[in-house]
Amino acid sequence: EQEVAEYRKSLGIRVSGFDVPRPIKTFEDCGFPVELLKAIAKQAYEKPTAIQCQALPIVLSGRDIIGIAKTGSGKTASFVLPMIVHIMDQPELAKEEGPIGVICAPTRELAHQIYLEAKKFAKAYGIRVSAVYGGMSKLDQFKELKAGCEIVVATPGRLIDMIKMKALNMLRATYLVLDEADRMFDLGFEPQIRSIVGQIRPDRQTLLFSATMPRKVEKLAREILSDPVRVTVGEVG
Ligand code: ADP
Ligand code: MG
Repeated sequence: EQEVAEYRKSLGIRVSGFDVPRPIKTFEDCGFPVELLKAIAKQAYEKPTAIQCQALPIVLSGRDIIGIAKTGSGKTASFVLPMIVHIMDQPELAKEEGPIGVICAPTRELAHQIYLEAKKFAKAYGIRVSAVYGGMSKLDQFKELKAGCEIVVATPGRLIDMIKMKALNMLRATYLVLDEADRMFDLGFEPQIRSIVGQIRPDRQTLLFSATMPRKVEKLAREILSDPVRVTVGEVG
Protein backbone atom coordinates (compact mmCIF):
# COMPACT_ATOMS: atom_id res chain seq x y z
CA GLU A 1 0.00 0.00 0.00
CA GLN A 2 2.81 2.34 0.96
CA GLU A 3 4.52 1.49 -2.30
CA VAL A 4 1.37 2.25 -4.32
CA ALA A 5 0.93 5.55 -2.49
CA GLU A 6 4.49 6.65 -3.22
CA TYR A 7 4.27 5.58 -6.83
CA ARG A 8 1.10 7.59 -7.31
CA LYS A 9 2.55 10.63 -5.60
CA SER A 10 5.66 10.56 -7.78
CA LEU A 11 3.42 10.71 -10.87
CA GLY A 12 1.10 13.44 -9.58
CA ILE A 13 -1.76 10.97 -9.24
CA ARG A 14 -4.50 11.32 -6.64
CA VAL A 15 -7.06 8.59 -6.06
CA SER A 16 -10.01 8.62 -3.68
CA GLY A 17 -12.84 6.19 -2.97
CA PHE A 18 -13.49 3.02 -1.00
CA ASP A 19 -11.64 -0.25 -1.70
CA VAL A 20 -9.82 1.05 -4.74
CA PRO A 21 -8.30 -1.72 -6.91
CA ARG A 22 -4.50 -1.62 -7.18
CA PRO A 23 -3.06 0.00 -10.31
CA ILE A 24 -1.69 -2.21 -13.06
CA LYS A 25 1.74 -1.80 -14.67
CA THR A 26 1.23 -3.59 -17.99
CA PHE A 27 -1.72 -4.35 -20.26
CA GLU A 28 -1.10 -8.05 -19.55
CA ASP A 29 -1.85 -7.33 -15.86
CA CYS A 30 -5.41 -6.47 -16.90
CA GLY A 31 -6.16 -10.06 -17.84
CA PHE A 32 -7.38 -9.00 -21.26
CA PRO A 33 -8.27 -11.74 -23.72
CA VAL A 34 -5.57 -12.53 -26.25
CA GLU A 35 -7.19 -10.89 -29.28
CA LEU A 36 -7.49 -7.66 -27.34
CA LEU A 37 -3.84 -7.80 -26.30
CA LYS A 38 -2.93 -8.34 -29.94
CA ALA A 39 -4.98 -5.32 -30.99
CA ILE A 40 -3.25 -3.23 -28.32
CA ALA A 41 0.16 -4.42 -29.52
CA LYS A 42 -0.83 -3.45 -33.05
CA GLN A 43 -1.37 0.12 -31.82
CA ALA A 44 2.21 0.11 -30.57
CA TYR A 45 0.97 1.03 -27.10
CA GLU A 46 4.03 -0.26 -25.26
CA LYS A 47 2.75 0.36 -21.79
CA PRO A 48 -0.31 1.92 -20.24
CA THR A 49 -0.27 5.67 -19.56
CA ALA A 50 -0.63 6.98 -15.99
CA ILE A 51 -4.41 7.35 -16.19
CA GLN A 52 -4.70 3.93 -17.82
CA CYS A 53 -2.66 2.26 -15.05
CA GLN A 54 -5.09 3.59 -12.46
CA ALA A 55 -8.37 3.55 -14.38
CA LEU A 56 -8.23 0.19 -16.17
CA PRO A 57 -8.39 -2.02 -13.04
CA ILE A 58 -11.06 0.22 -11.50
CA VAL A 59 -13.29 0.11 -14.57
CA LEU A 60 -12.63 -3.61 -15.16
CA SER A 61 -13.80 -4.29 -11.60
CA GLY A 62 -17.17 -2.79 -12.56
CA ARG A 63 -16.81 0.38 -10.49
CA ASP A 64 -17.98 3.82 -11.51
CA ILE A 65 -15.17 6.29 -12.09
CA ILE A 66 -14.46 9.98 -12.35
CA GLY A 67 -11.28 10.36 -14.40
CA ILE A 68 -9.68 13.76 -14.49
CA ALA A 69 -6.63 14.21 -16.68
CA LYS A 70 -5.50 16.59 -19.34
CA THR A 71 -5.94 16.11 -23.07
CA GLY A 72 -3.58 13.61 -24.64
CA SER A 73 -3.21 11.45 -21.53
CA GLY A 74 -4.85 8.38 -23.04
CA LYS A 75 -8.31 8.56 -21.51
CA THR A 76 -10.03 6.97 -24.52
CA ALA A 77 -8.40 3.56 -24.09
CA SER A 78 -9.24 3.74 -20.36
CA PHE A 79 -12.90 3.39 -21.21
CA VAL A 80 -12.81 1.65 -24.59
CA LEU A 81 -10.75 -1.41 -23.54
CA PRO A 82 -12.89 -2.30 -20.48
CA MET A 83 -16.00 -1.67 -22.58
CA ILE A 84 -14.98 -4.47 -24.94
CA VAL A 85 -14.58 -6.81 -21.95
CA HIS A 86 -17.89 -5.62 -20.49
CA ILE A 87 -19.69 -6.37 -23.75
CA MET A 88 -18.14 -9.81 -24.10
CA ASP A 89 -19.23 -10.60 -20.55
CA GLN A 90 -22.89 -10.02 -21.40
CA PRO A 91 -24.79 -13.27 -21.67
CA GLU A 92 -27.20 -13.84 -24.53
CA LEU A 93 -26.26 -10.78 -26.48
CA ALA A 94 -28.75 -11.42 -29.23
CA LYS A 95 -31.85 -11.41 -27.05
CA GLU A 96 -32.22 -7.67 -26.89
CA GLU A 97 -31.36 -4.93 -29.30
CA GLY A 98 -29.74 -1.54 -28.91
CA PRO A 99 -26.26 -0.64 -27.73
CA ILE A 100 -24.64 -2.04 -24.59
CA GLY A 101 -21.98 0.66 -24.47
CA VAL A 102 -23.06 4.29 -24.91
CA ILE A 103 -20.42 7.00 -25.20
CA CYS A 104 -21.29 10.69 -25.27
CA ALA A 105 -18.75 13.22 -26.49
CA PRO A 106 -19.07 16.97 -27.04
CA THR A 107 -18.23 17.31 -30.75
CA ARG A 108 -18.45 15.31 -33.92
CA GLU A 109 -14.65 15.31 -34.25
CA LEU A 110 -14.23 13.80 -30.79
CA ALA A 111 -17.04 11.33 -31.35
CA HIS A 112 -15.40 10.28 -34.58
CA GLN A 113 -12.00 9.80 -32.93
CA ILE A 114 -13.52 7.64 -30.21
CA TYR A 115 -15.42 5.71 -32.87
CA LEU A 116 -12.16 4.93 -34.68
CA GLU A 117 -10.45 3.87 -31.44
CA ALA A 118 -13.39 1.64 -30.46
CA LYS A 119 -13.46 0.02 -33.90
CA LYS A 120 -9.81 -0.99 -33.66
CA PHE A 121 -10.50 -3.05 -30.56
CA ALA A 122 -14.04 -4.19 -31.36
CA LYS A 123 -13.24 -5.67 -34.75
CA ALA A 124 -11.67 -8.91 -33.59
CA TYR A 125 -14.80 -9.75 -31.60
CA GLY A 126 -17.43 -8.85 -34.15
CA ILE A 127 -18.67 -6.07 -31.89
CA ARG A 128 -20.49 -3.44 -33.95
CA VAL A 129 -19.76 0.25 -33.40
CA SER A 130 -21.94 3.08 -34.67
CA ALA A 131 -21.21 6.78 -34.68
CA VAL A 132 -24.05 9.26 -34.33
CA TYR A 133 -23.47 12.96 -34.70
CA GLY A 134 -24.65 16.01 -36.58
CA GLY A 135 -23.58 16.63 -40.16
CA MET A 136 -24.37 13.08 -41.23
CA SER A 137 -27.61 12.09 -42.91
CA LYS A 138 -30.24 11.25 -40.28
CA LEU A 139 -31.77 8.66 -42.56
CA ASP A 140 -28.45 6.84 -43.03
CA GLN A 141 -27.84 6.89 -39.30
CA PHE A 142 -31.34 5.66 -38.66
CA LYS A 143 -30.79 2.70 -40.99
CA GLU A 144 -27.43 1.87 -39.49
CA LEU A 145 -28.78 1.91 -35.95
CA LYS A 146 -31.80 -0.15 -36.94
CA ALA A 147 -29.42 -2.82 -38.18
CA GLY A 148 -28.08 -3.03 -34.60
CA CYS A 149 -24.89 -2.22 -32.75
CA GLU A 150 -23.22 -3.00 -29.45
CA ILE A 151 -21.49 0.38 -29.08
CA VAL A 152 -22.77 3.81 -29.99
CA VAL A 153 -20.54 6.88 -29.91
CA ALA A 154 -22.60 10.03 -30.09
CA THR A 155 -22.98 13.71 -29.57
CA PRO A 156 -25.85 14.22 -27.10
CA GLY A 157 -28.22 16.16 -29.38
CA ARG A 158 -28.12 13.72 -32.27
CA LEU A 159 -28.41 10.72 -29.96
CA ILE A 160 -31.64 12.15 -28.54
CA ASP A 161 -32.93 12.70 -32.09
CA MET A 162 -32.22 9.06 -32.89
CA ILE A 163 -33.90 7.83 -29.71
CA LYS A 164 -36.96 9.95 -30.54
CA MET A 165 -37.02 8.48 -34.05
CA LYS A 166 -36.89 5.04 -32.42
CA ALA A 167 -33.73 4.18 -34.31
CA LEU A 168 -32.47 2.59 -31.10
CA ASN A 169 -33.49 1.95 -27.54
CA MET A 170 -31.48 1.88 -24.33
CA LEU A 171 -32.91 -1.37 -22.96
CA ARG A 172 -29.64 -3.24 -22.89
CA ALA A 173 -27.33 -0.28 -22.28
CA THR A 174 -25.29 -1.01 -19.15
CA TYR A 175 -22.07 0.92 -19.76
CA LEU A 176 -22.31 4.69 -20.05
CA VAL A 177 -19.36 6.99 -20.72
CA LEU A 178 -19.51 10.77 -20.54
CA ASP A 179 -16.30 11.94 -22.17
CA GLU A 180 -15.08 15.52 -21.86
CA ALA A 181 -17.96 16.26 -19.54
CA ASP A 182 -16.77 19.83 -18.94
CA ARG A 183 -16.88 20.63 -22.64
CA MET A 184 -20.30 19.07 -23.03
CA PHE A 185 -21.52 21.42 -20.29
CA ASP A 186 -19.78 24.39 -21.94
CA LEU A 187 -21.67 23.58 -25.12
CA GLY A 188 -24.98 23.55 -23.27
CA PHE A 189 -25.61 19.81 -23.43
CA GLU A 190 -26.53 19.37 -19.77
CA PRO A 191 -30.27 18.82 -20.46
CA GLN A 192 -29.53 16.30 -23.22
CA ILE A 193 -27.06 14.45 -21.02
CA ARG A 194 -29.58 14.26 -18.20
CA SER A 195 -32.21 12.98 -20.58
CA ILE A 196 -29.90 10.26 -21.93
CA VAL A 197 -28.80 9.19 -18.45
CA GLY A 198 -32.45 9.03 -17.40
CA GLN A 199 -33.14 6.47 -20.10
CA ILE A 200 -30.40 4.08 -19.07
CA ARG A 201 -31.04 1.54 -16.32
CA PRO A 202 -29.78 2.70 -12.92
CA ASP A 203 -27.70 -0.45 -12.34
CA ARG A 204 -25.43 0.54 -15.22
CA GLN A 205 -21.72 1.24 -14.88
CA THR A 206 -21.07 4.95 -15.35
CA LEU A 207 -17.77 6.60 -16.29
CA LEU A 208 -17.20 10.32 -16.37
CA PHE A 209 -14.04 11.83 -17.86
CA SER A 210 -13.16 15.48 -17.83
CA ALA A 211 -10.15 17.75 -18.04
CA THR A 212 -11.61 20.01 -15.34
CA MET A 213 -14.36 19.63 -12.73
CA PRO A 214 -16.50 22.76 -12.57
CA ARG A 215 -19.17 22.78 -9.88
CA LYS A 216 -21.98 21.85 -12.29
CA VAL A 217 -20.12 18.78 -13.50
CA GLU A 218 -19.33 17.84 -9.90
CA LYS A 219 -23.04 18.05 -9.10
CA LEU A 220 -23.99 15.82 -12.03
CA ALA A 221 -21.33 13.31 -11.03
CA ARG A 222 -22.76 13.16 -7.50
CA GLU A 223 -26.22 12.52 -8.92
CA ILE A 224 -25.51 9.89 -11.54
CA LEU A 225 -22.48 7.90 -10.31
CA SER A 226 -22.62 5.25 -7.58
CA ASP A 227 -19.76 4.98 -5.14
CA PRO A 228 -17.26 6.21 -7.74
CA VAL A 229 -13.50 6.12 -7.53
CA ARG A 230 -11.95 9.45 -8.44
CA VAL A 231 -8.63 9.46 -10.25
CA THR A 232 -6.84 12.73 -10.90
CA VAL A 233 -3.62 12.85 -12.90
CA GLY A 234 -1.47 15.94 -12.83
CA GLU A 235 -2.39 19.49 -11.96
CA VAL A 236 -5.99 20.09 -12.88
CA GLY A 237 -7.71 23.45 -12.72
P1 ADP B 1 -7.21 11.99 -24.10
O1 ADP B 1 -8.59 11.45 -24.35
O2 ADP B 1 -6.78 11.88 -22.69
O3 ADP B 1 -7.06 13.39 -24.63
P2 ADP B 1 -6.41 10.06 -26.09
O4 ADP B 1 -7.12 8.88 -25.56
O5 ADP B 1 -7.04 10.76 -27.24
O6 ADP B 1 -6.16 11.12 -24.91
O7 ADP B 1 -4.92 9.63 -26.42
C1 ADP B 1 -3.99 10.54 -26.92
C2 ADP B 1 -3.02 9.83 -27.88
O8 ADP B 1 -2.24 8.88 -27.19
C3 ADP B 1 -3.75 9.06 -28.97
O9 ADP B 1 -3.07 9.26 -30.18
C4 ADP B 1 -3.64 7.62 -28.52
O10 ADP B 1 -3.66 6.74 -29.62
C5 ADP B 1 -2.32 7.61 -27.79
N1 ADP B 1 -2.24 6.59 -26.72
C6 ADP B 1 -3.20 6.21 -25.87
N2 ADP B 1 -2.75 5.29 -25.01
C7 ADP B 1 -1.47 5.08 -25.29
C8 ADP B 1 -0.44 4.23 -24.74
N3 ADP B 1 -0.68 3.43 -23.72
N4 ADP B 1 0.80 4.29 -25.30
C9 ADP B 1 1.05 5.10 -26.34
N5 ADP B 1 0.13 5.92 -26.91
C10 ADP B 1 -1.11 5.93 -26.39
MG1 MG C 1 -10.32 12.31 -24.94
